Amino acid sequence: MDVADRVLAPHAAEVDRAAAWPAASFAALGEAGLMGLHVTKRLGGLEEGFAALVMATETLAQACASSALCYGMHCVASAVIAAKATKDHEERYLEPIARGQHVTSLALSETGHGAHVYLAETSLTQAASEYRVTGVKQFVTSGGHADSYVVSTRASVSNEQGEFSCVLVDKTAPGLTWLEPWNGLGLRGNSSRGLQLDEARVPLANLLGNEGDEVWYFFQVIAPYFLLAMAGVYNGIAQAALTGALNHVRQRTFSHSGEALARADMVQDKVAGLWARVQQARLLAYHAAELADANDPDALLALLASKASAGEMVVHVTSEAMALCGGIGYRENAVQARLLRDAQAAPVMSPTAALLRLWVGRHLLGVPLL
Ligand SMILES: Cc1cc2nc3c(=O)[nH]c(=O)nc-3n(C[C@H](O)[C@H](O)[C@H](O)COP(=O)(O)OP(=O)(O)OC[C@H]3O[C@@H](n4cnc5c(N)ncnc54)[C@H](O)[C@@H]3O)c2cc1C
Repeated sequence: MDVADRVLAPHAAEVDRAAAWPAASFAALGEAGLMGLHVTKRLGGLEEGFAALVMATETLAQACASSALCYGMHCVASAVIAAKATKDHEERYLEPIARGQHVTSLALSETGHGAHVYLAETSLTQAASEYRVTGVKQFVTSGGHADSYVVSTRASVSNEQGEFSCVLVDKTAPGLTWLEPWNGLGLRGNSSRGLQLDEARVPLANLLGNEGDEVWYFFQVIAPYFLLAMAGVYNGIAQAALTGALNHVRQRTFSHSGEALARADMVQDKVAGLWARVQQARLLAYHAAELADANDPDALLALLASKASAGEMVVHVTSEAMALCGGIGYRENAVQARLLRDAQAAPVMSPTAALLRLWVGRHLLGVPLL
């Protein structure tokens, strides 16, 4: 994917420094025809599945993790739109997405439910010929920059906890207020912001599927794409950190011995261990993608485990890789320092490794996941 080296990598430091949404990355991804990854060929998209998603986010994250996260969220949201798209959704959303003219994102998180993103409290009420959406979403990636947002709400026809509807809210919908930009430690260019919806007016046609539709249920549509998009981002960050450390220890030579750091046994042992950790997480993610693309009943287990594995691995690998680069890696604006900060999103972003392991355990033991 030459767009990663040509456009994302040269802008990554500035995107991080200025906490600026990666507009140049998105323009280039659009020109490269990559925005419609999950849009059917009939509508001009690439009609790719899970394997392409995990490899694309991994490749992009090696160049710019913020761009990869925003792209991953765009792909997840477009897959949610595509899953039960009406003719109208195809024309207003999927075709422009495939042409690279429309960016979308996910607005699920709320302060009330925190990491339990499948418990929406935002309300959806029908008023005459439109819906009114009221609530506050947090951490909306590409907030204020995307053209539309897949917003989860309680189903207006049900009070069952965990039953939710999804509606598409256009950035121009009346009743939207963007809250203060979120100044994160890492992934600083993703423009994750709060969104207040005050009786936001949404056409009835923007409902995705049916109200409270099981197809939207967390584990069925959103989770598989989201877990692999995130696993790809973390695997890419880890690979970038490892590549940087390998380059550093090859080049760093000592005046007293004239030898490169790479000649030290301990360093050789260390990089071998890091390489194995990255490969384990990467291959588990590829395996999960293969199962998911084949609709294998065991796919969910591998999907849950792959994001948990990538999330834990990236924290370890970026820390060890920075240490291998010594004072140069520890500098405030060093690439290794940026990757270390980017990796710290993994233990925060829901569903976290602990929650995922809980679900894996429940799945293995035949206990209901929620
Ligand atoms: C960079 C970034 C981008 C994001 N992008 C998006 C996005 O595009 N769309 C979106 O909807 N959301 C997004 N999020 C939100 C994210 O997925 C989480 O929902 C959010 O980070 C949770 O934050 P919180 O402060 O509410 O956590 P809290 O719920 O307060 O949790 C704090 C900690 O406690 C743990 N915890 C919570 N409950 C339990 C429990 N019962 N037992 C044990 N531990 C528990 C959590 O795992 C976490 O480690 C993003 C977050 C980040 C950091």
